Amino acid sequence: MLFDSLFAPLADRTGPFLNLADGGSISGKAFVALVARQAHALRAHGLTPGDRIAAQVAKSPEALAVYGAAVALGAIFLPLNTAYTADEVDYFLGNATPRIFLCDGARQIELAGVASKNHAQVLTLNGDGSGSLTDAAAGQPGTITPADRGPDDIAAILYTSGTTGRSKGAMLTHRNLLSNAEVLADLWRFDARDVLLHALPIFHTHGLFVASNISLLTGGQMIFLPGFDLEAVIRALPQATTMMGVPTFYTRLLDDARLTRDLVAGMRLLVSGSAPLLAETHRSFEERTGHRILERYGMTETNMNTSNPYEGDRRAGTVGLPLPGVELRIMAEGAEVAQGEVGVIEVRGPNVFKGYWQMPEKTREELREDGWFITGDVGFVDADGYVTIVGRAKDLVISGGFNVYPKEVELLLDEVPGVLESAVIGVPHPDFGEAVLAVLVPQKGRTLDAGAVLEVIRDKLARFKQPKAAVVVESLPRNTMGKVQKNVLRDTYKGWFQA
Ligand code: ATP
Ligand code: MG
Repeated sequence: MLFDSLFAPLADRTGPFLNLADGGSISGKAFVALVARQAHALRAHGLTPGDRIAAQVAKSPEALAVYGAAVALGAIFLPLNTAYTADEVDYFLGNATPRIFLCDGARQIELAGVASKNHAQVLTLNGDGSGSLTDAAAGQPGTITPADRGPDDIAAILYTSGTTGRSKGAMLTHRNLLSNAEVLADLWRFDARDVLLHALPIFHTHGLFVASNISLLTGGQMIFLPGFDLEAVIRALPQATTMMGVPTFYTRLLDDARLTRDLVAGMRLLVSGSAPLLAETHRSFEERTGHRILERYGMTETNMNTSNPYEGDRRAGTVGLPLPGVELRIMAEGAEVAQGEVGVIEVRGPNVFKGYWQMPEKTREELREDGWFITGDVGFVDADGYVTIVGRAKDLVISGGFNVYPKEVELLLDEVPGVLESAVIGVPHPDFGEAVLAVLVPQKGRTLDAGAVLEVIRDKLARFKQPKAAVVVESLPRNTMGKVQKNVLRDTYKGWFQA
């Protein structure tokens, strides 16, 4: 199903599909031929429909082609974050039991042990010698008849980012991926004339299933950069019509004087997601460039849930409206809340995954029988239907029996002069159960007096919401998608209020 919609049509495209950092390009036709050759080679290595193939490889056209090759064979694609260590890879291979594990040649020696321990055959991408997929693919035919797969068959297992705990493998079906690509391409007006600046990793839903799938579906080009290299991005922006990024992309661009109105004059859309975009970033970016960044909200388990409108009011601080076909509701204590009230966000629709791989209990906890998925994000919907995320249920602080939503406190702290950003967490307290602790990052070149910052916000918050203490740090711990790891902070400061 996915192969016919996303990859097969490329065979007719002789113009550039992937534009590379070195100035070279690969046509759609050449790319789909590469996909076919890899698929034949993987089949020769024993990969059959329903098998899993895990890939921990640096971003490249060849790496993207592996996704297509897996789909062509009706296998299940399982991309892994390239930052994972051998021990972490061991966990994923143990959970997913793939038939094949593909890694970069440079890490073959380091990773061969965990692969064989988990009974996976090791192949390398772009590696020399035995087991090189690139070599095995070279002599294979450039066309393939795809395996027959239905909408409910699993196309990929994608692991969550592990921001709140151990990563879970979300089973995503052909329908999940295709329906989301179709809806987003339509909503964001993508077509074959678009050139998407792609500097995101391709082991995560954002770079693989949002950015790449939309381009594959609509026949647009990508400027396919190995990562977010500021120089390369600044060189590429004048050639691009759209970019998809995480908030740090935009803050890094704002830090550079070369970001001007002219630099992005040819662009029609800049999207942000994966983590909250600060109102300050939104404002500054619009002032400097005239572009209003479009913020959207999604997750590994559901692809995208909401988006600000393409035409119409893009509201800073909100993640916009539910996508067409996606239902969204806010729940508290087992019932839907009244409009405007805060609760846990649940979603239902063709985008919602099939469950967590080999974790039936987790699946039962988070995916209701009637199809509603309990996202674990907390938020509210305003009178016009715009969704605002206030944080994660797991980050909620309960102090003296009262609920404190960290985001409310963080927004106030972020407005205090000298504060670049903040994270508010709950840590054990002998009297209150948990007490609010603020972790503050000063703006470049400034020093902060933690006590004075708390003094500024004191009048603006009910007593139970006020941080009982604040610490100043150089930066917040983040995972590779730029998300603040509050569990790391909670662990670091767990003894703060203990005698
Ligand atoms: P884990 O589930 O393993 O703890 P994770 O939830 O960070 O990790 P992802 O699926 O990569 O893993 O991230 C999805 C989460 O990212 C969402 O649940 C939400 O909390 C956050 N997120 C995504 N987009 C936005 C956004 N625009 N604003 C705020 N938060 C966002
Ligand atoms: Mg999650």
